[in-house]
Amino acid sequence: MNFSNQAKELIRQQISEWDLAAKNYSSLKNVKVKTFDFGGYHINIQYNPGRIASSSAKVDAQSIEARPCFLCQRNLLSQQHWLSFDNKYLILVNPFPIFPEHLTIPIISHTDQRIFGNFGSMLELAAQLDDFVIFYNGPQCGASAPDHLHFQAGNKGFLPIEDDFANKKCCYEIRRIKSVTIFHWPDYHHGIITLKGNDKIDLIACFNQIYMQLQVHQPNEVEPMINILISFKNGEWIIHIFPRTLHRPAQYFEKGDQQIVLSPAAVDMGGVLITPRKEDFDKITQGDLIDIFKQVCLEHSIIMKLINDL
Ligand SMILES: [Zn+2]
Repeated sequence: MNFSNQAKELIRQQISEWDLAAKNYSSLKNVKVKTFDFGGYHINIQYNPGRIASSSAKVDAQSIEARPCFLCQRNLLSQQHWLSFDNKYLILVNPFPIFPEHLTIPIISHTDQRIFGNFGSMLELAAQLDDFVIFYNGPQCGASAPDHLHFQAGNKGFLPIEDDFANKKCCYEIRRIKSVTIFHWPDYHHGIITLKGNDKIDLIACFNQIYMQLQVHQPNEVEPMINILISFKNGEWIIHIFPRTLHRPAQYFEKGDQQIVLSPAAVDMGGVLITPRKEDFDKITQGDLIDIFKQVCLEHSIIMKLINDL
């Protein structure tokens, strides 16, 4: 059995024997979805009450220190089983799913959430779990465990960005560096840098250059704020990098009717925005989405300059 199928089998097993997973994967079948058409691409809004803990997670140093780390092996629930990846990562079933098949992939040791030096592992995971999209949320833009390095994975065919990249309506090739092709998305409302290539070394070198450039814009952060999605098909990796400027939009901190509890991370950047509260799902407008993307993502002109400077 290939590794993707082993992971799918693990999900099936856990749903059959672990109450929490059974309940939450079953509720996922009833989540409400609405779609906004942006002309050329669309964004789905998913009303998913199971995600409230993640969307409203406190990720300040004090709160993190006060809780036992839920990704450390010794703290896993007794019902949780795993696959080992490369004796370095655990493949776990995410008991609070967004995707019909949703994995959490922590490293074995308790070490900070950082992408620099770990991007190669992400590529290897994508190549092995080739029925999944692998994603990374930076410690200050979506990770609910910023103190424990982890990736997540969701089944392919779920995020709108997959088709949007395949049909190339909103993106075009802008540069080539060695074996890596770089794409730009001028018609999307949020800035994205996409890399495509079949050579791991070239991809890591290109990613590291982008990382360094982003670091210039955010010299005081522990790492440049980014979300990343990676998939692997026909021997090639497709890597979407979403440079961020803000963890949560102003609407998140409003009170009463003005508040929208939406805490954007990689999945939202890929075109499925999660609203854990029904009132936000009902009232959110296309205008809100445009405004939220504008607040939390790096603007197109800076991304264009960054790509040209590589
Ligand atoms: Zn830990």
